[in-house]
Amino acid sequence: MEYKYPINGKFGIYGGQFVPEVLMPAVHELEAAYKKVKDDTSFKRELEWYLAYYAGRPTPTYLAKNLTKFAGGAKIYLKREDLLHGGAHKINNTLGQALLAKYMKKGRVIAETGAGQHGVATAMACAALGLHAEVYMGSEDIKRQEINVYRMTLLGAKVHKVDSGSRTLKDAINEALRDWVTNLVNTHYLIGSVVGPHPYPMIVRDFQSVIGKEIKRDMMKIEGRAPDAIVACVGGGSNSMGSFYPFIEDQAVKLVGVEAGGHGNHSGSAALLRGREGVLHGMLSHVLEDSNGQIDDTYSIAAGLDYSAVGPEHSYLMKSGRVRYTIVNDSEAIVAFRKLSLLEGIIPALESSHAIAEAIRMARDMNEKQSIVVTLSGRGDKDVQTIINRGD
Ligand SMILES: *Cc1c(COP(=O)(O)O)cnc(C)c1O
Repeated sequence: MEYKYPINGKFGIYGGQFVPEVLMPAVHELEAAYKKVKDDTSFKRELEWYLAYYAGRPTPTYLAKNLTKFAGGAKIYLKREDLLHGGAHKINNTLGQALLAKYMKKGRVIAETGAGQHGVATAMACAALGLHAEVYMGSEDIKRQEINVYRMTLLGAKVHKVDSGSRTLKDAINEALRDWVTNLVNTHYLIGSVVGPHPYPMIVRDFQSVIGKEIKRDMMKIEGRAPDAIVACVGGGSNSMGSFYPFIEDQAVKLVGVEAGGHGNHSGSAALLRGREGVLHGMLSHVLEDSNGQIDDTYSIAAGLDYSAVGPEHSYLMKSGRVRYTIVNDSEAIVAFRKLSLLEGIIPALESSHAIAEAIRMARDMNEKQSIVVTLSGRGDKDVQTIINRGD
């Protein structure tokens, strides 16, 4: 079967364009512009140049020998997105969309941010490409993420404080959508994950697919074949979608997405496994709601996984059975965070630590001829204070 989603903006029943009438011209314009540049040689060449010389691609696919020995089974490889400029995979998407904005002749870029990572990555890409960036951020998040707010300012971005709702990411997205409606002519809305109305889930997936393409090429070179499994953490779902996408038609490759379980009996931020089908931020997908059908406040020790919904393509891939999804909670992620630091000299982001925990579990039940690639979505320097504060 040839996988060619989205079809008419949908992944099976998921996705779509659940936006107010006034935003329809914007999403249509974006779709048309993306279609035009997607296979345009000069766009592709320019993006490749920025990815290589600015962001630092390609990243290594690294055989973690000590972690492999510790797990005692399949070989564990790390796709080192933590080595990119900015310390995470997010720059793959922000460079792609910022360049797209430039080709659309939009000099102003807006973005939403939760923990501030996507805001910083947007500010970087916009500075590099000479675009003006404005970032919406909940006042709760601004309080918690002072350093990222300051980073964005250093990088020339303007940060808008959002005081509505729970004053976090989901409210920042609503504000950004409002801004976009009123400033369509000169503004591109740069969404940070495979979420939002069509064409965003497709665009972000395509830009992040550079991860999976490199995994494929590297594993052919190193092992002479595709890996037996690919494991990645799922927040909105972009580093995982980018890792999985080039392998979807290769049924021999197990694809595993790891959601954040948080702690205690809270649902964490596992929208796929603990949520319900619903519409949020312009898409039909899986959403975490409370008993009144209101969007639930989520929690994870990994700020980047703390989102109340998930990209619609993941909902489709779960339903079709092509991808297996599982949950890792805070304490398991911390154990993996410490293990990788100690055994490999690599401090992983807490987000990525969720994927590492699952890879260790899986490796034990596989043999040494098999291989797992874990996408190390980011580095953990940003998380060291969190670990210190917990005292465990
Ligand atoms: C933002 C972030 C994530 C979660 O986002 P996805 O869209 O699910 O990839 C994961 N890891 C890191 C390091 C992040 O910064």
